[in-house]
Amino acid sequence: MERTTCCVVGGGPAGMVLGLILARAGVEVTVLEKHGDFLRDFRGDTVHTSTLTLIDELGLWPRFDQLPYRALTRARIRMDGGEATLGDLSRLDAPHPMIAMTPQWHLLDMLATAAREEPTFTLRMRAEVTGLVRTGERVTGVRLADGSELAADLVVACDGRDSRVRAESGLPLHRYDVPIDVEWFRVPRHADDPDGGLGRVGRGRFLVMLDRADYFQCALVIGKGTDARLRSGRVEAFHDFLVAMNPWLAGRLDDLAWDDVKLLEVSLDRLTRWWAPGLLCIGDAAHAMSPIGGVGINLAVQDAVAAARLLAAPLLAHDPAAVDRAGRAVQRRRTPATVITQTAQDLAHRRVVAPVLDAEPTDDADRMPFPVRLMKRFPALQWLPARVVGIGVLPEHAPDFARRPPLPVVAAPAS
Ligand SMILES: Cc1cc2nc3c(=O)[nH]c(=O)nc-3n(C[C@H](O)[C@H](O)[C@H](O)COP(=O)(O)OP(=O)(O)OC[C@H]3O[C@@H](n4cnc5c(N)ncnc54)[C@H](O)[C@@H]3O)c2cc1C
Repeated sequence: MERTTCCVVGGGPAGMVLGLILARAGVEVTVLEKHGDFLRDFRGDTVHTSTLTLIDELGLWPRFDQLPYRALTRARIRMDGGEATLGDLSRLDAPHPMIAMTPQWHLLDMLATAAREEPTFTLRMRAEVTGLVRTGERVTGVRLADGSELAADLVVACDGRDSRVRAESGLPLHRYDVPIDVEWFRVPRHADDPDGGLGRVGRGRFLVMLDRADYFQCALVIGKGTDARLRSGRVEAFHDFLVAMNPWLAGRLDDLAWDDVKLLEVSLDRLTRWWAPGLLCIGDAAHAMSPIGGVGINLAVQDAVAAARLLAAPLLAHDPAAVDRAGRAVQRRRTPATVITQTAQDLAHRRVVAPVLDAEPTDDADRMPFPVRLMKRFPALQWLPARVVGIGVLPEHAPDFARRPPLPVVAAPAS
């Protein structure tokens, strides 16, 4: 059986950051990713202020800066009662006070390229994990779809919100009731359209449009379980609904068919225990995040940084008891930030988004919610949501062993 020190399941933001930082510590690490590339569509596009600081610390800013990204410094939203700024990132005290909007595959390719420069790093694509290997109570490796096994001192589940590893682990899970799902589709973008991200909220409507240069990636928030009803209607009625929200979309939706509109089911949950002997779960595998606030990638990255910092020495020492203690310490360190963020998302689902979706056309449309009016009146308050979303509750910094001076730009090989 093949062997590695740390087996990371899943090459998303959590898995790639963990793999890179552990490899910089000299830990032998293998990342297993089930897809053949990172070019999947159903990923968030946001790289937050604190992740940009981390990219700086890792010496990767010159490479990130070469990627096609749009700088979002103000989160704007258009409501029936007018336009408002929800958060002003330019007020943050950070090297890159913005959210960089870039399709996530660019970020993952960049991380993979940097990690491959470390001699102890291995990335295996088309490597789907189907089960855990145990010796007594201890997880000692993973089983792959091709029938092979990989033994490891530690398995870290970074395989996202439908984590196979966490399902197999039997670790206890707390689920929140979630009242929303998302319809995900593209709309052509014209050069003179507003750039960055756009939000449109009104009675019964909640649409977010992410600028991906020549098209907008759109996320229409719908009530949970209402997808079938929506799709039972003609697609032209769906076009009319979107145009009523944003009249400037007229004429751009003719090619949009129901097959182009994908349903993404939103979940919000959290393991009450993130670790077992020989196993740790982080990122969405430990706590599936809602797209509300677009903070899931940042949280997954912060988990990975904390995990790498706490795990590097015990993994280098091949000390199973110390590895398990470090797994427990990762949960202790990251739980408060996770609970606070998920509680905020849960409140936003129930108090902001669900009431908007349930609102009747006769409701008072011109009245903006109180916090939005307050921020309009006192723009300095726009710092607070920018801090919460852009930097997060407990930002993590690269450990000294992972820091590098700015690294030269290299062409990323096709993954
Ligand atoms: C509709 C929607 C929109 C979102 N938009 C945003 C946004 O704009 N900004 C934001 O910050 N967050 C957003 N989120 C949340 C965000 O996508 C997640 O929180 C984040 O991607 C979690 O990162 P991760 O590395 O833990 O998991 P993931 O990004 O899910 O990565 C998991 C990886 O594991 C791989 N994998 C899965 N199973 C296996 C297996 N068995 N074997 C091997 N590999 C496997 C997958 O292919 C994937 O590459 C959104 C979520 C949804 C549902």
